[in-house]
Amino acid sequence: MDKADKPVHHCGVAGIFSKEPINIPHKLFYLLFALQHRGQESAGVAYLKSNQIYCYKDLGLVSKVLSRYLRKNITSHIGIGHVRYSTHGGSKVENAQPLHVTCNKGEIAIAHNGNISNADEIRKELSDEGAIFQTTSDTELVLHLISKCKEKTVTDAINRVLSKIEGAFSFTIIYGENLIGIRDPNGYRPLYLGEKEGSFVMASETCALDSLGISQYREIKPGEVVVVNKEGVHSSFFNQTGKKQHCVFEMIYFARPDSEVFNHNVYEVRKRMGAALARLDKDIQADMVISVPESGNVAALGYAKEAGIPFEMGLTRNFYAGRSFILPTTEKREMAVRTKLNPNRSLLKGKKIVVVDDSLVRGTTAGIIVRILKDAGAKEIHFRLSSPELHFPCYYGIDIPTYEELISNSKNPQEIAKMIHADTVKFLPIEELQKVISNANDFCYACFNGKHLYHPHSNKE
Ligand code: SF4
Repeated sequence: MDKADKPVHHCGVAGIFSKEPINIPHKLFYLLFALQHRGQESAGVAYLKSNQIYCYKDLGLVSKVLSRYLRKNITSHIGIGHVRYSTHGGSKVENAQPLHVTCNKGEIAIAHNGNISNADEIRKELSDEGAIFQTTSDTELVLHLISKCKEKTVTDAINRVLSKIEGAFSFTIIYGENLIGIRDPNGYRPLYLGEKEGSFVMASETCALDSLGISQYREIKPGEVVVVNKEGVHSSFFNQTGKKQHCVFEMIYFARPDSEVFNHNVYEVRKRMGAALARLDKDIQADMVISVPESGNVAALGYAKEAGIPFEMGLTRNFYAGRSFILPTTEKREMAVRTKLNPNRSLLKGKKIVVVDDSLVRGTTAGIIVRILKDAGAKEIHFRLSSPELHFPCYYGIDIPTYEELISNSKNPQEIAKMIHADTVKFLPIEELQKVISNANDFCYACFNGKHLYHPHSNKE
């Protein structure tokens, strides 16, 4: 399978509860459409109708898989949805979500964003007891644990299961006539709860709530379980002792800039990252700042404003080109990047340019971008990254290439500049990144500094 030359997000989740019956799948379509950037390989919804859960999911984009619901009027009180990207286990429809089962507790459907760190231990335990698995996904383990537990009430059963799992998780669940939203005690992945006209809506990012015109919302807190049903909204905490570990990459790259995540306005934080980069470049002589669109746009704006250098659109992105994958030959790789990013020659010719992007993984795409800009006549290229150097894997729901593949594990910025034929390369140091985030101690930086709170297969450090 071709690999992406960016850290890759696994999932986005959504959920709705409405006191009055409404067209739930139709609303889920718009929520998931707004979360499409969090996963492009599969999409799915589950909803409760006449005491039965209906689930539909497939490989493909939301617009392809779920457009059927734009034409139908399916009234329901509760629904959940999911968008997914996967590398491990491949793009199999069995691994698409929501997952839906009938067990001794009735019908349950679940959508998950994150990664359960002790999944292998739990899978082995369940397997030794005779469990049969239909997917390779860690989310299925949660369903097995719910089915297995002796607790009778929904809340007790959920609390029992949550005491057994660790790692990163934001769940939306249909269980009985309840919509349940859960966030892990460390708060790795975001999850929001909004309300409008008697409907309660959960989503990974606030941009999805915006798509339904919801302006009243709050963060579901780390360690919180929110149960929404006909009686109203009930909140409880299964664990409030976790050290907050919000994924800083949500701020750097994953979340949409028009979203709020972890109670931060993503756009503002990204601009501050760009400004911090510019402060490292006090003596730079450049004619313009450009971004690698879309991921570098906001940081580039912040850089340009701080440095007093004009921001220009030096590269135009073709929105119909998909994600940049690492294709097997140099020629194919270059074609893919050239299809996606086209330079404005008359703007760039003879100019000294600062190029801002969010992160550098293998350096392959950056090398092609520098070549495109130099072919277009750029005189100097100063490549700037609004994240620190990536050194370590992520165990909390993000795909980052192996240690060997990460360019910063074999080369320093000067060597990277030489490799990609840029004049200079600079990263935003971790301490500068921390200065632009108000509650910096509440964030995870493990892919930069290796300080993982949990490792797969192991207990807490
Ligand atoms: Fe996010 Fe990196 Fe931590 Fe993973 S390791 S949760 S990508 S900050």
